[in-house]
Amino acid sequence: MERFDVIIIGNGPAGLSAAITLKIRNKNILVLGNGEVSIKVSKAHEINNYLGIKAVSGKDLAEKFLSHAKKMGVQILDERISAVYKMGDYYSLQGKSGEMYESKAVIIATGVDFGKPYAGEEEFLGRGVSYCATCDAPLYKGKKVVIIGATKKEEGEAVFMSEVAGEVIYIPLYEGEVSFGDVNGDNPNDIKDDNLDDIKGDNLENKIKVVRDKVVAIEGKFKADTLVLENEKINADGFFILRDSINAKNLVPGLVMDGNHIKVNRLMETNLKGLFACGDIVGVPYQYIKAAGEGNISAISAAKYLDELNKMN
Ligand SMILES: Cc1cc2nc3c(=O)[nH]c(=O)nc-3n(C[C@H](O)[C@H](O)[C@H](O)COP(=O)(O)OP(=O)(O)OC[C@H]3O[C@@H](n4cnc5c(N)ncnc54)[C@H](O)[C@@H]3O)c2cc1C
Repeated sequence: MERFDVIIIGNGPAGLSAAITLKIRNKNILVLGNGEVSIKVSKAHEINNYLGIKAVSGKDLAEKFLSHAKKMGVQILDERISAVYKMGDYYSLQGKSGEMYESKAVIIATGVDFGKPYAGEEEFLGRGVSYCATCDAPLYKGKKVVIIGATKKEEGEAVFMSEVAGEVIYIPLYEGEVSFGDVNGDNPNDIKDDNLDDIKGDNLENKIKVVRDKVVAIEGKFKADTLVLENEKINADGFFILRDSINAKNLVPGLVMDGNHIKVNRLMETNLKGLFACGDIVGVPYQYIKAAGEGNISAISAAKYLDELNKMN
């Protein structure tokens, strides 16, 4: 497996700024994110406080970020990272697609997710609660699982899971129709219309039951076994919570937090050697230029760390 110098998790201004600086330093890097540029850039109406560009639309600014990154040879993969493990002097990253990645250093630039974890979610993480259907589906062969999908993209995960599990309950957290045969995301697990009839010969609707309700908590004893909804309780063997981003505390075991933010010093170093963080995820103010500036600092710190690592080896 290729071991990158640095993997950057997050494709907003923080992550892309870090990527550009690391390219200038001639480092072998990879950016993993959601789409090409963070929707917090592309969806902004008009931006007036980014130095050098007055009254720019979010769409135009996103295009400028992307074109700059591409001209510098930055590779951006559409991949959500569900876990980062420190393996001595390198890191191993688990992607939602099931792919594993390796790098000597990691920069976390995932932005903030204002959603709070459900009661019991963190307690049972790894004990019946998972963030990655592709990674953990084999554990639930023939069993009953619940998938909580934050966006329409996750319908593809429910279809994938129905190939493995005995029974799938799908809880959409979004408005609009759920149509398992019409998943247009760029999710590698998307299954197109003409394949749906082939799922073990079973009718998809019989294998995936859609329940619309508000999630309250996940309960259990040693292992999670019950999803508490506002109007009912569902017993199952596994509970998959699929959101666009994951709380940083749950992403990296052992990472020290400061409330909801990752604790860093002025060099954007976390408590784990070789792991850096920047942008909204390290604290307010939530601003593009602050995120980009911190991305630059984290890249310089990561480059220095790599140089020291090379001297030691
Ligand atoms: C509508 C709107 C308008 C705004 N207007 C302004 C403005 O005018 N001026 C200003 O200065 N700021 C503005 N902001 C704030 C600004 O958007 C943020 O401060 C900035 O985007 C933070 O950049 P970031 O790189 O830290 O994170 P983000 O831009 O949030 O990017 C993080 C990226 O990482 C991805 N990601 C998260 N978790 C994972 C994972 N596990 N694996 C892979 N990828 C992951 C996310 O999907 C996202 O694409 C606005 C925000 C919004 C929502």
